[in-house]
Amino acid sequence: METVKTRFAPSPTGFLHIGGARTAVFNWAFARKEKGIFLLRIEDTDRERSRPLFEEAVLEDLRWLGIDWNEGPYRQSERFGLYQSFFADLQNRNLVYPCYCTPQELEAEREKALAQGKPPRYSGKCFFATSEDRARWEKEGRLPSWRFRIPAGGVVRFHDLIRGEMHFSCASLGDFIIIKSDGVPTYNFACVIDDALMGISHVLRGEEHLSNTPYQILLYQALGFSLPCFAHLPIILDEDRTKLSKRRGDVSLRSFREEGLLPQALLHYLFTLGHSFAEEKELFTISELIDSFAIERIGKAGAVFDEARLWSMNGTYIRGLPSEELLLAGKEFSREFGKDWNETKEKIVPLIPLAQEEATNLREFVTILREIYRGPDTVSLNGEQEKVCHFLHGLSFEAIDWDDQETIKKKLRAWQKASGVPPALFYRTLRMILIGREEGPELHRLLWALGKDEVMRRIHKTL
Ligand code: GLU
Repeated sequence: METVKTRFAPSPTGFLHIGGARTAVFNWAFARKEKGIFLLRIEDTDRERSRPLFEEAVLEDLRWLGIDWNEGPYRQSERFGLYQSFFADLQNRNLVYPCYCTPQELEAEREKALAQGKPPRYSGKCFFATSEDRARWEKEGRLPSWRFRIPAGGVVRFHDLIRGEMHFSCASLGDFIIIKSDGVPTYNFACVIDDALMGISHVLRGEEHLSNTPYQILLYQALGFSLPCFAHLPIILDEDRTKLSKRRGDVSLRSFREEGLLPQALLHYLFTLGHSFAEEKELFTISELIDSFAIERIGKAGAVFDEARLWSMNGTYIRGLPSEELLLAGKEFSREFGKDWNETKEKIVPLIPLAQEEATNLREFVTILREIYRGPDTVSLNGEQEKVCHFLHGLSFEAIDWDDQETIKKKLRAWQKASGVPPALFYRTLRMILIGREEGPELHRLLWALGKDEVMRRIHKTL
């Protein structure tokens, strides 16, 4: 097989969202698995909506996710001369024509077609314009856009690696703009030239681009380029099965990062959006994810974005991290912890496993860690709980071997029995005193992690 070369071609008109990230990840994984090349191309032909800020943010999010690229980022705005030369070639061969229709005329035509129940496509009106018509429009100050003329008759066919044989009759396609009236190339035109010149072997992109593909194929053919392989990834749906971006807007990676999503967890999750694993596992390393990737394992059916599952997987990855790495990852959220984050690192290390067990995101992890580390400011106990607290106060903690969790566990049981109160009441009260809530980590581990002095201090304080 020829060298695999894939690309991710975002438009810098917004932050990277879940759908875009999945496209990037699948192209990257495929290139990595096949020992090929993965490149980045910034499709910034929409000068009004493109922003350097978004370009920077997309690259930064990709880096955070662990996606690396071999070439680029190329920028279409720096390649206008190139598109112009291919355009001149099409012009010389009479494969394009100028269109003077105004946006209002086009809109009226569109509405008319829709009202008649026909698919809205350009009528080809300006193809039949005479040189007098053109001269008149020019005099009115109209600037033409340039349309590619769809060949009469015929069918555009291609093999989609996910969807199989696809065909579009030329009669269903309208003459389409390749150069806008301000001289800027359209997506379809620039994309084809770039994919061809950059030697892209496989185009993996969202299903929403499927309707562009026949137009692009006609351009490949007109320009004498050979076709890449196409694979259109299944649409991503919200839980109510509407298109994800419809209800919630494009769900950006930023918003998840801000809540403390681990890149490893997101990477794994993205592999589940329309792609299945030969062997399910709770945790994958990056190279295992790459190895598991196969275009044959991508389905046609829409993939539901299940946010609860994403966070639950994040919890699994949080539990899988060594303490040191988790502290590093949580550093971003240290403000939640307070100013003593740096000074108290040593003291919080033993508490990490306790917070790790419960948290599904890093923000929560740091919050729980702080809660365990600081203890409650004030604890209000009811009458029964107060009795337990008094009982605890009278105990001699000094005598226990605090290094051994098993000893602590046994001692706790003995104390509970001696106290004469039911186990649930006893243990919940102790937790209230130590961390301000009744549910939480196993007590012998909590006691051990806090240390004898701190446990005694909290009991005395509550009393
Ligand atoms: N710039 C297009 C987008 O962001 C790329 C589509 C493609 O991959 O061809 O959707």
